Formats: sequence, C-alpha cells, structure tokens
Amino acid sequence: MSTETMAKRWSSVMMDNYGLPPIALMAGQGSRVIDADGAEYLDFIAGIAVSSLGHRHPAVVEAVSRQVNTLTHTSNLFLHEPGLALAERLVELVDQPGARVYFTNDGTEANECALKIARLHGGKSGRSTVVSTDNSFHGRTLGSLSITGNPAKRLPFEPLPGPVTFVPYGDVEALARVVDRSVSAVFLEPTQGEGGIVPAPPGYLAAARRICDEAGALLVIDEVQSGIGRTGRWFASLGPDRDSVRPDLLTLAKGLGGGLPIGACIGFGEAGELLTPGSHGSTFGGNPVSCAAALAVLDTIAEQNLLEHVRVVGARLFAGLAAIDDPLIAEIRGSGLWLGVVLVEDRAGAVEKAAAARGLLVNAVKPSVVRLAPPLIVTPIEVDDALAILTEAVHEVSRAGSK
Ligand SMILES: *Cc1c(COP(=O)(O)O)cnc(C)c1O
Repeated sequence: MSTETMAKRWSSVMMDNYGLPPIALMAGQGSRVIDADGAEYLDFIAGIAVSSLGHRHPAVVEAVSRQVNTLTHTSNLFLHEPGLALAERLVELVDQPGARVYFTNDGTEANECALKIARLHGGKSGRSTVVSTDNSFHGRTLGSLSITGNPAKRLPFEPLPGPVTFVPYGDVEALARVVDRSVSAVFLEPTQGEGGIVPAPPGYLAAARRICDEAGALLVIDEVQSGIGRTGRWFASLGPDRDSVRPDLLTLAKGLGGGLPIGACIGFGEAGELLTPGSHGSTFGGNPVSCAAALAVLDTIAEQNLLEHVRVVGARLFAGLAAIDDPLIAEIRGSGLWLGVVLVEDRAGAVEKAAAARGLLVNAVKPSVVRLAPPLIVTPIEVDDALAILTEAVHEVSRAGSK
C-alpha cells in the first residue's frame, strides 16, 4: 500500500491531534528505515530519542521474543523477575543505595507519579505549589501538562491542577525568588528537549539543589528524554562533574525500553518512601516484556561501551554541524547524540522536509530548531552521510529563502 493510500485512510479514522504525518514507515534495521513507497532513510530522530539501539536490535528482539513466549503480563498483583532485575539495575546505575523505583508506561506517567509524590510530601507540611520552567515539556496528561511551560499546549485545557509557578529556565535568581516554604517540588529538565535542545547553564542544577534544600522542596529531574545514554552518560544530571546533582525524584522513559513502552520514577531517600500500598498504580506499567527490553538496552549499552561511543560519534556530529557554512545556521546546541541546529529564521520545517527528500529523517522540534537524536549505535559513516545530506538540505532551504 502506498503512502498516499494510507494517508487517505488514516485521515478518515484518526483524530487530528498530530496533523497528518507525511511519511509511512514500514520496516527498520539499525539506523535505517524504509517507507511505504520503498524509500530508505537514515533515521536521525529514532522515534523521538526512543529507539536507542536502533531498529530490530538483536538483543532487544531476542529479549522481547523470549519474554512474550514465557510470560507476557502479570499485572501489579504479582512479582516478576524482569521487573525486579530492572529495578535493581536502575538503583545500581543511579548509584544511590536505598533508591526505589516505580514503573510506568511512558514519560507522562513517570512525571505524574512524581507529582503525586510531591503532593504527599507537601501534604505533611501544607505545601502545594509546584515550580516549573518556561519552555519546559513534562507531558500531556492534565497533571504533567499543568507543569509544562508552553502556554499554547496548556491554555485550551484549563483549568489544570495547580498551583504551578513558572520561572525562566536557567535563571538561578528567579528560582530562588519563588521557591519558599509553600513549594512542594521543583521540576527541571537537565536540557530542555522539546523546548529546542536548550542546555542548562553550568551550575544551574546544583543551585536548584541548594535552593530546594533550603526551602524543603523536592527536586524532580525529568530525564525522560536526556536519560539512558543520550548525552554520552547514563543520566545527563548524574555524573562526576560539578553539574551533577542528586535529585529527590528522577523520571525516565523514552530511550529506556529501546522502543518498548516503559518509564520509571525513581525516588531517592525519603521521596522513595512516600507511596504507600494503594496510593498509586498501573496495570501495564513495568510489564515483563517492556522490562525485558529495557534490561537488554541497559546490558547492551554497558557491554558495548556505548556511552563512550555516543561521546565520540556525538562529537563528530557536532563538529560536522558546526562546520556547515551557511548563514541560515545560528548555532549548534546539545551534547552526545542529542543536538539542536538552531536557525536564524523559522525554517526548521523546510529543512526537515528537504532532508527527508534526500533520505534523512530529522525533526523540526521548534520552528527554528532542527533536532537530531539518532540511535546510540549510529556509526561514524552514517554520521558522515547524514551530515552530507543535512548540509545540502540547509543550503537548499537557505537559497530558497534568500531569493
Ligand atoms: C517526551 C517527554 C515527556 C513525555 O513523555 P511521553 O512518553 O510522551 O509521555 C516528558 N518529559 C520530557 C522531558 C520529555 O521529553
């Protein structure tokens, strides 16, 4: 079936919340996908930073197949081994003994869990305000939407849970001004993903930690997009350097399951002790199949030294992008395999289209920002191929604009 035929049928049965996607994907292998018309693409968006090991990675295929064929679902009424092993692995990776894990199906639910824990934390001391940042993205359910700093996404759905106070991202003084004893939690992304790959200024997360400690507020770090190797470390906010911070709650999803739906809310210290029997739950969250996939992802990243690989090929991609000589490009932002090409005009959609026409999938995350988030297994040759295509695409859009 052609893309055109699919598009017609799609439009008549699907709600229009996504608009009509222009490409129908049929199959994938590694960093490549094929569309319904037989065209092949280098996939530099990876299902929005989700397909961390690319498509059809043998470790994921094997783990998922084995688990489906052993025990697909248990609900939360029973213990199961993949969930147990995954929770233990995550606690080991965050390197905080005593950390506790709650599994979800996606990022929104991970933040929803953090919001409920913030309510429990606040309930004990009469605090209810949550602080979030302008231009942030934390999800689409009413709770996670209420802390998403994008008025266009939020306003049609008001009234939303609250109170929520928004402050400019990266501004320590603004944060210090609003975080007082009325605040239960502060939600921060280490780098704003949907906001256009906007890294926090050095020292911002550490300052947020101090500010939260002084006020007794929980610090929630949303690593739904940045976590699990995307930036060349397990977590963007947990590492050896001075930007490292110990959150009270860490939320994960996207890359964790390598394409299978799974998220997690990890609680550190007291924040991990606040949920009590019956206070929260999910029928599918942390199901054995998604947990088996996530374990395969974590094992593969570790065994194949992919964090180092991400740093090396990420630097190559960054350097190649920075070398594109075109007045349309303002700057390159981000780290690891998570980069934003910032344009001087709102032409990212045109660049996305021009790149796709040449066989490269990227994403106009903002009208003026093109996002690149290839699979963590992308090779240097694929990076070079993508750079060649993107260079042509940028030049073409640039020329068309200056006519
Ligand atoms: C994508 C994203 C979410 C929402 O995750 P879903 O899986 O789409 O629900 C939350 N926070 C951040 C930082 C994200 O990038």
